[in-house]
Amino acid sequence: MATATKTELKNFIGGETVDPVEGQTEEVVNPATGEAIAEAPLSTKPDVDRAVEAAKSAFDGWATTPPGERARALLKMADLIEERGEEIADLEAADAGKPRSAVLEDEIPVMADNLRFFAGAARCLEGRAAGEYMEGHTSFIRREPIGVVGQITPWNYPLMMAIWKIGPALGAGNTVVLKPAETTPVTTLKFAEWCADILPAGVLNVIGGHGEPAGSELVTHPDVEMVSLTGSPPTGKWIAKAAADRLKRVHLELGGKAPVIVFDDASMEAALETIAGTGYYNAGQDCTAACRVLAAKAVYDDVVSGLESEAKGLVLGDTMSADTTLGPLNSARQRERVEGFLERKPGNAEIVTGGVEPDLPGYFLEPAVVAGLEQDDEMVQSEIFGPVITVQPFSDEEKAIEWANGTRYGLAASVWTRDVGRAMRVTNALRFGCVWINDHIPLVSEMPHGGYKESGYGKDLSMYALEDYTEIKHVMINLD
Ligand code: NAD
Repeated sequence: MATATKTELKNFIGGETVDPVEGQTEEVVNPATGEAIAEAPLSTKPDVDRAVEAAKSAFDGWATTPPGERARALLKMADLIEERGEEIADLEAADAGKPRSAVLEDEIPVMADNLRFFAGAARCLEGRAAGEYMEGHTSFIRREPIGVVGQITPWNYPLMMAIWKIGPALGAGNTVVLKPAETTPVTTLKFAEWCADILPAGVLNVIGGHGEPAGSELVTHPDVEMVSLTGSPPTGKWIAKAAADRLKRVHLELGGKAPVIVFDDASMEAALETIAGTGYYNAGQDCTAACRVLAAKAVYDDVVSGLESEAKGLVLGDTMSADTTLGPLNSARQRERVEGFLERKPGNAEIVTGGVEPDLPGYFLEPAVVAGLEQDDEMVQSEIFGPVITVQPFSDEEKAIEWANGTRYGLAASVWTRDVGRAMRVTNALRFGCVWINDHIPLVSEMPHGGYKESGYGKDLSMYALEDYTEIKHVMINLD
């Protein structure tokens, strides 16, 4: 164990780094090596109480800070992300077990852009109507922050998911208590600490710990007015039920099972490269991953063999090396979960390639292509969240739409065809929060990201996210 270089992490509450009240800590492990890289606080009820109290005390001041000043803070946070980009890449690669180059080239620019978008958007929040709707009275709309927001993030993009939540919440004038996932607390705790000189004390608080007790205490705390989660459907459902007791606002991004519909006129080279690139990106631990391919019968064999060779071309290994294109699963538990799906594969299915543990330390799994599955099979219906792409042949457009819509998820989908009319017919029929045509996975700060159905409700990114973190107040003035 590399205990000599272990980072000692603390909670960040009320503008200060503090030890957990009950003194419990836990080792954080690098999923690519199995080595301990940090010792993280395990928060319990007294830490949640302390963090929420700090956020509550800071709320009035932050809510009444002019949007331009709040925006300046977010812009400084964006600069900080870029200035510390190399350091963040080192920490995140070790914390989440992802290729360092992916953090540096993909995540750092997205995080900085996201904060800059919300800095601008915070200054443009508007009530949509003002006027005389009743004789002798003027009405107008105010958009106001909600209060203390409890935010819970996952382990697949630890700091990026935190940034997606912090930007709109703080931009709209709320204060935040955020709990990162227990396996990946490093970058979020460090980032909060680095923001000490940028934000007033108590505006942003980050506490380490598990879903139980830290997460559930945060969700049920009476002074937390809204809860936002990116995580699994069971956790989302539990939060929605727990929040119902006080009718708290809930904002949920609960993953997906993205269908990728490949028609026989699609540009096959582009489709295969994009599907493999985005289905195995982040070791498939992405809620929009191109993981469920529906291929027209005429091109099914080409799609299966093309994905097989794409999978075999990926480079597993040292996540600090620029040559590595596929990192490990985030934890031993997650690898076991993914392997469980493959072990339970029905007789009709064939693992064309991958799905075995390579001779490497950590939690790597060779990227898999699975063919021959039926629509009702577990691997088609459930989010695997690993480097596994399934392929099913479809007979016609109607069947492709039926199968694409035929799971409980509704986050993202893509359609591959050169026929514009068909692309639009299929897109209109798909029940997903985002549909790409002849592409998969790109996101922009200006456009919303969020699900239909059991993928949750509430949007990340875009003006819609900022609005989700506000209350609408009607003010009516008697002109007498
Ligand atoms: P999870 O939902 O348990 O964890 C996500 C976050 O929720 C973590 O911070 C966790 O500590 C917290 N949490 C868990 N229980 C909680 C509770 N009762 N109250 C408050 N917070 C709680 O997910 P997991 O078990 O780590 O992963 C299981 C599966 O979930 C994955 O295989 C994947 O399919 C899915 N997942 C999806 C996403 C996504 O991006 N939507 C992210 C992570 C996991």
